[in-house]
Amino acid sequence: MADAIVVGGGPAGSTCAWKLRSAGLDVLLLDRMAFPRSKLCAGWVTPEVMTDLELDGDDYPLSFMTFNELHLHWKALTAKLKSRQHSIRRFEFDDFLLQRSGARVLQHKVRDVRRQGSDYVIDAEFRCKYLVGAGGTACPVYRALFHAMNPRSSALQTATYEQEFAYNWENGECHLWFFDNGLPGYAWYVPKANGYINVGLGGMADQLKHQGGHVQEYWHKFVEKLERRGLVRYDDYHPTGYSYFLRGNVDVVSDNNAYLVGDSVGLATRDMCEGIGPAVKSGLLAARSIVTGEEYSLAGIGKFSGGGIASKILERKFVGS
Ligand SMILES: Cc1cc2nc3c(=O)[nH]c(=O)nc-3n(C[C@H](O)[C@H](O)[C@H](O)COP(=O)(O)OP(=O)(O)OC[C@H]3O[C@@H](n4cnc5c(N)ncnc54)[C@H](O)[C@@H]3O)c2cc1C
Repeated sequence: MADAIVVGGGPAGSTCAWKLRSAGLDVLLLDRMAFPRSKLCAGWVTPEVMTDLELDGDDYPLSFMTFNELHLHWKALTAKLKSRQHSIRRFEFDDFLLQRSGARVLQHKVRDVRRQGSDYVIDAEFRCKYLVGAGGTACPVYRALFHAMNPRSSALQTATYEQEFAYNWENGECHLWFFDNGLPGYAWYVPKANGYINVGLGGMADQLKHQGGHVQEYWHKFVEKLERRGLVRYDDYHPTGYSYFLRGNVDVVSDNNAYLVGDSVGLATRDMCEGIGPAVKSGLLAARSIVTGEEYSLAGIGKFSGGGIASKILERKFVGS
């Protein structure tokens, strides 16, 4: 029994749990994985995310890097976009946020979610008044309570492929390659502090299917390019894939005392596929709604990342409308 149960301990769930705990609620957080756990993600975070999380990079005790510009590549063109951004390692970051939340955390894979009177009951084992679905793309709360009201659009589904590994990198800049070899998306090179690196690529799943392609096919050309450019020389790649949804016209994000946050809704930005920021913001807003009774609305969460040149170009190119 808890006042609130949060399903999923990524940035959306841990942020929501943190604010609910700060307001004095008894919060139980269930995640199918034991933390620290791996999460496929380039680990790029904006200064706004740090502000929303009330975190100062200088005080964050784990791997943290700052870039003052992004290196954008498109065919033979390269542009440097002045923009202050950061990298973290999700393996560390998510565990840090979860511990900081102060919630009771239990490793448990949620299977069954139902409403019983004014309560929610999970797997006939856990009961609460408020339920927060923060389980990412495969969120069981979304599946059980919201799917019929709020179907996701396959046109906004991404397909990604990436790897993070220990690597003694020399180039400490963040590089992004757009539409390489016809990829309907972009590839990235993101160095991390303490000798790690994340390389990967992602695109719109529907467009890839339409082209008869698959992200794996772009991977080999991409790692060859990294080698050619002298950015990464590595021969032990084991990349993995994951899919998540970009922001659509989401109609229903709460119903009675059940709320959806982060990737469970599909909130990543439509240009840069940035999901951590919207996950954090939705976690904050859902917690505020639970604590104050204010309406929970996504109106204040942007569909696009920042207002930079890249966003403007990509808004047209990337979602293809
Ligand atoms: C390859 C890749 C690169 C990305 N790069 C970036 C980036 O650089 N910057 C950025 O801002 N965004 C990036 N994103 C998007 C970002 O990772 C997500 O949008 C973000 O993690 C969403 O946070 P979340 O808390 O909603 O979900 P998640 O972080 O996915 O957390 C969901 C949690 O729910 C748990 N869970 C799932 N099912 C159950 C269940 N049945 N029972 C209990 N627990 C369950 C999972 O174990 C997980 O811990 C990237 C995504 C991918 C795939």
